[in-house]
Amino acid sequence: MRLSRYFLPVLKENPAEAQIVSHRLMLRAGMIKQSAAGIYSWLPLGFKVLRRIENIIHEEQLRAGHLPMLMPTLQSADLWRESGRYDAYGEEMLRITDRHGRDMLYTPTAEELITDIFRTHVSSYRDLPLTLYQIQWKFRDEIRPRFGVMRGREFLMKDGYNFDLTREDALHAYNRHLVSYLRTYERMGLQAIPMRADSGPIGGEDTHEFLVLAETGESEVFYDSAVTEIRLGARDIDYDDHDQCRAIMEEFTALYARTDETHDEAAFTAQVPEARRRRARGIEVGQIFYFGTKYSEPMGATVQGPDGAQVPVHMGSHGIGVSRLVGAIIEASHDESGIIWPEGVTPFHCGIVNLRQGDAQADAACEGLYSALGAAGLEPLYDDREERAGAKFATMDLIGLPWRITVGPRGLKKGVVELTCRSTGESEELSPEAAVARVQEIYEPHRPVRPGA
Ligand code: ATP
Ligand code: MG
Repeated sequence: MRLSRYFLPVLKENPAEAQIVSHRLMLRAGMIKQSAAGIYSWLPLGFKVLRRIENIIHEEQLRAGHLPMLMPTLQSADLWRESGRYDAYGEEMLRITDRHGRDMLYTPTAEELITDIFRTHVSSYRDLPLTLYQIQWKFRDEIRPRFGVMRGREFLMKDGYNFDLTREDALHAYNRHLVSYLRTYERMGLQAIPMRADSGPIGGEDTHEFLVLAETGESEVFYDSAVTEIRLGARDIDYDDHDQCRAIMEEFTALYARTDETHDEAAFTAQVPEARRRRARGIEVGQIFYFGTKYSEPMGATVQGPDGAQVPVHMGSHGIGVSRLVGAIIEASHDESGIIWPEGVTPFHCGIVNLRQGDAQADAACEGLYSALGAAGLEPLYDDREERAGAKFATMDLIGLPWRITVGPRGLKKGVVELTCRSTGESEELSPEAAVARVQEIYEPHRPVRPGA
């Protein structure tokens, strides 16, 4: 993309309405525009990051054997009356009446709808296990929408639902989700710690939230500092292997890590040596639940078991805050000049800054880099505007591309361009060909796993 043809409405001033850094930087970098309280338009740069996050989620869900689908945002209230949640959900649910006077709602989550699909089409244990998921907009009429996309009213969520014959199988689905979520967050350059949590209106007996540590987080968390040292890394995972998934779940959840809802001071003190006790704040970026037959029983989602008897299926649901992640990643990765995107989610792989736009040699070198990076399957953002170098650098730093290639007449005389790392600020001089090869190598581990679903 050439910046002269892009839509990047950056703001010079700090917007007064933004209280936290991610909200401020998303507005300043021209990523979002508020349209009503807690409701945002995603401008091209923000939308690109959102799509990158979605793609990672799809890739990891497919890898775990889960099936993508899409359910409507507007749903009939009748289904929600069956589960009893139409009244129980409270004021967070946006209720709408259509022209025929029928009660509708904007989906805050989709357990009822998916259970209805399941009971319509699945009748035998032979069709299990089954896990379906979607990435779809949700609406919750939050009492206090704030912090930009972190607590919106309309927000994008990945929500997945597993259907299993037995509790044992459903617990495997729980562990499988935990492992796939760990991998998903790591690919985004994030550490999200699974913490024992409370199940809230979803209900159920087992649940973990994934928290990104950040001072601006809305959750209070208590943990053993040793949990922050565990990484999934590039392990080979067989998502059908119950023992392997359980072992990873245990490895990541054995140490004390809880949100304030389940925190137990006595257990904390007894289990964690004083020097490792941490009390901090975190951003909830996902949650997994096992809730057994809570929805399948009242809604009649049963299958015929191996012995011929009808049994309600064991279910769980699993959510990732897709739009919230954009803010969470910025909270975890920025400096005073702007955003620093992790390579896995960056909107463009590399910036190209032309220090002397209009100089034949500099222009030609930039064009060469631009097409070579494109041919290598990478997306560069070429700042081809007639602007001062300082202004070009400031824009690149603000929008946070992890790598920048700077091209100017002085370097070109020596046959070099400069490759700069956004996070360390370190630069090295390389031939244009070597710079392209280097950027290609950097992104090698971030190649798509499979084409998007
Ligand atoms: P919270 O406690 O933050 O209100 P929740 O526990 O009610 O969230 P879940 O039902 O677990 O939310 O939804 C799955 C994920 O969706 C959450 O982990 C979070 O990342 C995201 N999410 C929930 N509410 C919002 C919101 N208002 N704005 C943006 N993302 C949200
Ligand atoms: Mg939650």
